[in-house]
Amino acid sequence: MGISGPEEYVESLRTLKRRIYVLGERVDDPVDHPMIRPSINAMAETYRRGDEPEAEELLFAVSHLTGKRISRFTHIHQSTEDLVKKVLMQRLLGRRTATCFQRCVGMDGFNALYSVAYECDQEHGTEYHQRFREYLRYVQEENLVVDGAMTDVKGDRGLRPAEQADPDLFVRVVEKRSDGIVVRGAKAHQTGALNSHEILVMPTTAMREEEADYAVSFAVPSDTQGLVFVLGRQPSDTRKLEGSPLDVGNPRYGSQEALVIFDDVFVPWERVFMCGEYDQSGKVVERFAAYHRQSYGGCKVGVGDVLVGAAQLVATYNGVERASHVREKITEMIHLNETLFSCGIACSAMGKPTPSGCYLVDVLLANVCKQNVTRYPFEISRLLQDIAGGLVVTMPSQKDLENPEIAPYLEKYLKGRADVPTMDRLRILKFIENMTMGCGAAAYLTESIHGAGSPQAQRIMILRLAGLQEKVSYAKRLAGIDG
Ligand code: SF4
Ligand code: FE
Repeated sequence: MGISGPEEYVESLRTLKRRIYVLGERVDDPVDHPMIRPSINAMAETYRRGDEPEAEELLFAVSHLTGKRISRFTHIHQSTEDLVKKVLMQRLLGRRTATCFQRCVGMDGFNALYSVAYECDQEHGTEYHQRFREYLRYVQEENLVVDGAMTDVKGDRGLRPAEQADPDLFVRVVEKRSDGIVVRGAKAHQTGALNSHEILVMPTTAMREEEADYAVSFAVPSDTQGLVFVLGRQPSDTRKLEGSPLDVGNPRYGSQEALVIFDDVFVPWERVFMCGEYDQSGKVVERFAAYHRQSYGGCKVGVGDVLVGAAQLVATYNGVERASHVREKITEMIHLNETLFSCGIACSAMGKPTPSGCYLVDVLLANVCKQNVTRYPFEISRLLQDIAGGLVVTMPSQKDLENPEIAPYLEKYLKGRADVPTMDRLRILKFIENMTMGCGAAAYLTESIHGAGSPQAQRIMILRLAGLQEKVSYAKRLAGIDG
């Protein structure tokens, strides 16, 4: 019987015995760690049905493997409608949490590997697709969180995997045995890694023949021997240790990235989905990236919804909500946010089936979507800071507000409109600080640039997929140029 709700999910993490490090210390029970718990709360929202009328339809799907009702996060897209619903689900959860809820990377990995494993079997006579279906069935039945692990640490960016001074800078097979393989390396920036039951590894780039050992894909339980997790830092993260929720800004929810080290990890053959088929590795990268670039047209839009709301709220608390320039700025925020959404929906609606039956987004449009995501959240944040005012970074702490010697002064002098409690005004200001330059900015801003590939990665794809020569022929024909 699979995990049925958020509480059960949180408890399931306690049973995992892992090597986790936070601020230089080994942490045996990450569940109650104040720097980790908000990210667990965000992930737990993917298990909560919620009150939104559309939630049931978006958060759940029918498995094409078993016919059973499953989490959409474990679903293989069967139609363009499924692709659209995925984006709508992500917008809904972004709105609920105002952060990264971390579970999409695994979902995007499933869909990429499902189709590539099928095509690999056709070309190489391998049996990866059936293996992957068995694995997916297990994940669906148990309703697990799976970290989709793609980004290698990469060492010298000017060198190929096999050219590095240290051969372990890209995850690779170091030993093949009759019962499985042994892998070594590390995956960087792993979203939600500490909150995952399983790690699903994919190659990070298109490999060449001499890099066959790096063309490897597999899944392991996150408490497998040899796995080491080191939590990544975020701006102002230690505020979560101070016991002052006001200063955290979004105290309930947060995101998480970790470095995941594979110190000679054994993987049985039934959990290996690629091993040496280097010609298939580029396809996994391209499809995973396309799905995750689509994803950002949902999750970041949901966060944007909250930021538009925060802009309207803080303007009202400051008494300037009717000023024409404020209305203009909020209109611009909405326009930018809905443009991102339009891209997410467009690449989904234009999706097509792969030979495996799994639907893939329109790859060009997914790349355009993500390219816009590398820019618009920054402009949305700038406009929000503009509307909020400088108090976002100059206001005192919760502890000052609790000190009876100065609290009456702060209550009096930090007030905005007379009918709005000072504390409410400060709460939304601290929230805006968190979202635009604190922990929340790690998920909303930096992730918007680098998550699912940095801006240049999308530009390469955009130029490659644009059909430039065809466009040249249109121009030539209309201009009367021969040939
Ligand atoms: Fe999901 Fe967005 Fe987080 Fe990626 S960045 S895991 S798409 S919420
Ligand atoms: Fe991401």
